[in-house]
Amino acid sequence: MENLIELDKKHFIHPTSSIQQQQEKGAKVIFEQGEGIYLTDKNGNAYIDAMSSLWNVNIGHGRKELAEAAAKQMEKLAFSSAFSTFSHEPAIKLAEKIASIAPGHLNAVFFTSGGSESNDSAIKLVRHYWRIQDQPNRRKIISLKRGYHGVAAGSTSATGIPEFWGMAGHMMTDFTHAESPYESSTEQAIASLRQVIEADGAEKVAAVLVEPVQGAGGVLIPPDDYLQEVKNVCEEYGVLFILDEVITGFGRTGKMFGMENWGVVPDMITFAKGVTSGYFPLGGVVVSDHIHEVLKEKSKGTLFHGFTYSGHPAAAAVGLRNIEIIEQENLVENSRKMGSFMLEGFRKLKGNLDIVGEVRAVGLLGAVELVQDPVTNKHFSPDLQVAAQVIEALHERGVICRAVSYGDSDIICFAPPIIIDENQVNTMLEKLHDSILTVQKQLG
Ligand code: PLP
Repeated sequence: MENLIELDKKHFIHPTSSIQQQQEKGAKVIFEQGEGIYLTDKNGNAYIDAMSSLWNVNIGHGRKELAEAAAKQMEKLAFSSAFSTFSHEPAIKLAEKIASIAPGHLNAVFFTSGGSESNDSAIKLVRHYWRIQDQPNRRKIISLKRGYHGVAAGSTSATGIPEFWGMAGHMMTDFTHAESPYESSTEQAIASLRQVIEADGAEKVAAVLVEPVQGAGGVLIPPDDYLQEVKNVCEEYGVLFILDEVITGFGRTGKMFGMENWGVVPDMITFAKGVTSGYFPLGGVVVSDHIHEVLKEKSKGTLFHGFTYSGHPAAAAVGLRNIEIIEQENLVENSRKMGSFMLEGFRKLKGNLDIVGEVRAVGLLGAVELVQDPVTNKHFSPDLQVAAQVIEALHERGVICRAVSYGDSDIICFAPPIIIDENQVNTMLEKLHDSILTVQKQLG
C-alpha cells in the first residue's frame, strides 16, 4: 500500500486533481473492487458510490455480463478499423440501437471515445454542415455559463466554468456564453441568448450547445419551459441546436435521454458515460435525418475527422449489452422511481436541518445546496468550504460524493447507480443527514 502511494506520487499525473495535494497527502483512496452501488478500497473499506464514479457507472459495478461481452468480442475481433468505410457488426448494431432509442429524427451516429471528443466532433460537424452549404461564416458556438462540455480544444472553449480556461488560455475562437437559466428566469436567460446570437449577427452562429441539466455546474435543472424556448429561438434564427446528453443519457434522469423530460428534440446530441456504464471508453454524436441528408448530398470526398477508436468493436459490444440490461431490468423506470424517493428524502432533510437550502432532482440526478440562511438564501463565505466539509464527513461515513463550489454556492451532487433500491437510498440519506448535522454543529 505504502509502495503504491509512493509510486502514484512519482509517476501518475491525475486528471482534474491537485498535483500539490497528491504530493503532500498521497492518493486519497486506492480502489480495488466494485459491486453494485459499492466500491471497496485496498484496505477493505466499502463506500457507496453516490456519484456513479463520474456520473457514468449507470448499471453499477461488477456486472459480469459486460465483462463477458468485452471478452467475447475481444476474442473474436478485438479491433479493426472503421476508417475508409471499413465496418464491423458491433458498431453497426450499436448505431442502430442508439438510433432506435433516441427520440424522433436522431438516427445517425458518429462514434468517439468519450464526452470531450463527442463535443469537439459535434462542433466540427456543425461548422462543416454550414461550410458545405456555402455558409462558412457560421462558426460561432453559443453555450451557457456554468456549462461543462469537456477538456479538448472545442469542448474546453464551450465550457462555461472559467477555471477550465486557466490552464492554457482559450483554446479556440468563436465561442460565447449566454446566461444559464439557473442564475435567472427563462425569460432573462432567453433574452441573454438572443443578445448573444445577435451580437455579431445570427448569420455568424453555427449552433447553440447546452446540457439538458447542467451537471458539473451543480446539477442545475432548467425551468420547465427553458429548453423548448431555446429550440424556438434556434429555429427562429436558423441556428442548429445541440444537446449534450453526456451525463443525462441512458436512464440517468428517469428517461432514456434527459431531453425527454421536457419533450424537446434537438438537431444533434452528444453522448458518452452511461452508454457503456463506464466499462469501456465510448461516446458519440447522433445527428438528425436532415443533417445526415445534407452530409450525404454535399459532403464531398473524405470527411477528415475520425478517431482510431471511433466505433471500437469491444466498446460497441459492451455498449449494446449495457443498453440491453437497462431495458431488460427496467432501469429507466427504477431511476425515475428512486429519483422521486431520493428527492422526497432531500426535502425531509431540508425540514430537519438548518443549513439545507434548495434541493432538487430529476431521476437519479440531484443536488442539495447548503446555505447559511435558507429563508433569505444567504450563502456561506467560500472560506468556510462548507460543501467540502460535508463531502469529507460523508467520506468518513463511507459515501463518495462530489461538491460543487461555484462562486459562493455550496452544492452536494448526487447521481448514484440507477440500480439503487429503496433501502440503499435510505442509507445514503441517513449518512447525508448525519454528515450535514455534524458540519452544522461545527459551524455553530
Ligand atoms: N459533457 C458533459 C455534460 C460532461 O459532464 C462531461 C464530463 O463530465 C463531458 C462532456 C466530457 O466527457 P469526458 O470526460 O468523457 O471527455
